[in-house]
Amino acid sequence: MADAAPRYPHQLSGAMRQRVQLAIAVAGEPRLLIADEPTSAPDVTVQADILDLLRRYRDRTGAAILLVTHDLGVVAEIADTVAVAYAGRIIEQGPAHWVLTRPDHPYTQGLLAAVPDLAVAPGTPFVTLPGAPGAGPDDIAGCSFGPRCRLVQPRCAAKVPELDPVGEIHWSRCVRHPSAEVAVQPRPRGGARA
Ligand code: SF4
Repeated sequence: MADAAPRYPHQLSGAMRQRVQLAIAVAGEPRLLIADEPTSAPDVTVQADILDLLRRYRDRTGAAILLVTHDLGVVAEIADTVAVAYAGRIIEQGPAHWVLTRPDHPYTQGLLAAVPDLAVAPGTPFVTLPGAPGAGPDDIAGCSFGPRCRLVQPRCAAKVPELDPVGEIHWSRCVRHPSAEVAVQPRPRGGARA
């Protein structure tokens, strides 16, 4: 890496630029490191290197790492606690091993079901979630996931569900849980996107 120091950024590969960014981020030994999609490099070797660097930094300094990612493989590999966000709100939170193996929220369940499985028979269609997310947390009345949810029911549109406990240290934002006893209101016309 030392021979990279005098070079300009455009003279470095994408993987080297990612490593430089990480080196800059940890140089001051922050107690909290926020890493937004740090493993976006297409090369899996580079991804593994970055995760290894993050893990060693955490173990050496005791710092907390807030890692933002769309990659459930990365979550499974490095996270202790996971918070799943949908349309600007956390919809499920808990220990990573728990959320990944016993997801409660229909969105988390859909995400995990959509992970490609090499063991399925050739020609088996991919599992997908129908529709698309709204633009923001207030774009859809009640539960933002309603228009795409296989378990949707009329009361889902009444108000935004609370993040309720579904275990000692596991929470889910869904009307299927106790504090969601709310009056049923009709969903406003035009408030939902398919
Ligand atoms: S609140 Fe309703 S729409 Fe939202 S995830 Fe739960 S069942 Fe589905």
